Amino acid sequence: MSSANTGVRTVGIIGAGTMGSGIAVSCATGGLEVVLIDTQAAALESGVRRSHAIIEGAVKKGRLASAAGTAARARIGTATEMATLAAVDLVIEAVFENLQLKQTIFRALDANCAPGTLLATNTSTLDIDAIAAATARPQDVVGMHFFSPANVMPLVEIVRGAETSSASIATALDVTRQIGKIGVVVGNCFGFVGNRMLYAYGRENQLMLLEGVTAQRIDVVLETFGMAMGPNAVGDLAGLDVGYRVRRERKDLPDDPRYFRVADLLVENGRLGQKSGRGMYRYGADKRAREVDPEVDPLIRAEAARLGVVARATSDAQILERCLYALINEGAAILGAGIAASAEDIDTIWCNGYGFPRARGGPMAYADTVGLGTVYDGVRRLAAVHGPRYWTADSLLADLGSRGSSFAAWSAQRASIS
Ligand code: NAD
Repeated sequence: MSSANTGVRTVGIIGAGTMGSGIAVSCATGGLEVVLIDTQAAALESGVRRSHAIIEGAVKKGRLASAAGTAARARIGTATEMATLAAVDLVIEAVFENLQLKQTIFRALDANCAPGTLLATNTSTLDIDAIAAATARPQDVVGMHFFSPANVMPLVEIVRGAETSSASIATALDVTRQIGKIGVVVGNCFGFVGNRMLYAYGRENQLMLLEGVTAQRIDVVLETFGMAMGPNAVGDLAGLDVGYRVRRERKDLPDDPRYFRVADLLVENGRLGQKSGRGMYRYGADKRAREVDPEVDPLIRAEAARLGVVARATSDAQILERCLYALINEGAAILGAGIAASAEDIDTIWCNGYGFPRARGGPMAYADTVGLGTVYDGVRRLAAVHGPRYWTADSLLADLGSRGSSFAAWSAQRASIS
């Protein structure tokens, strides 16, 4: 076994579900020996089957040579006992999103893994420090936030906890590179960089739905701008129940009955997205092509009436502004707080994990193109209409916008100081 600081050759992946099996494929095709672990024998079996099927699909499509596919399949082993992990260099935990469960696992990792093993969690929302605190080696604990489908999406957010060592971060970056992905180091906060910004963007989408703008219109406007998929199509693809469960756990949600109310309403009506054949849209037999479902609009209208939300005429340009300026304002807050090291890092995350159009550079580069003075004015205009709750301009945006500066210039200056 090699130590985590001198190169990773073997990886234990805990949880053989959607993410675990995709991560196993990425690791195995990247040359790592994989041990996939799950407490459920059936889940383990279907996880391995899924991993093999993904590899076979890549061979059939000519993306992977046949011999490389055979070798990758052979690199995926299984186990049910944590003791197996005494012999791995890296562990990536991908069990259910539940803090107590993850803490129990990390306690067991602490007891079973050799000193120096890098202990990573694929959590998308939980506090890395709370997970690390379950071990006596928080310096070895890091977030490695893969995106779904993990074998396809190139991005990994590498989350630095309060006690994560620089060596652990360097190893996580090395492994990410080794398996052909792009790692971006981010700070520990709810949603890290990508999902925290996604919440601001999604919030505006959700409010506009209540105000009478259709999902299809919002999606088409954002897709015309260049997003790979509009926010409502993305919600259906990811599963509306995922965010629903996360929001039930959060203690820091705004006191606003409109907040993500449409998504919650759909879940409460059994509309989970593509997986249940209907969500914001309805889906045909292949579950891919979205169709407007005439049942959705009356549901939303009744809820808007119950909440006293008045319909508002919204132009395409306003749809775009509300979604993108919310994204940029949150990005500025993340930058100012040091959760992301640079505007470029935020852009890398959004272009590689969230389908932001590369041609526009990413949300922060796009803001620079529009001009931060214009964005700052836009945020203040939105505050005048919608109130300050969601539209208070971030102080960095206000500062750069009023000086006619840019996120790129600010980031470059920061880099030259550090
Ligand atoms: P999933 O439900 O598909 O899989 C979880 C697996 O963990 C199941 O097979 C379950 O049997 C197994 N498991 C549960 N307890 C276990 C234990 N004690 N030991 C071993 N295995 C155990 O979940 P998922 O969608 O793959 O998500 C896993 C993690 O990845 C979560 O933390 C989630 O937030 C995160 N994540 C998910 C996505 C996504 O889009 N699905 C994206 C990024 C991150």
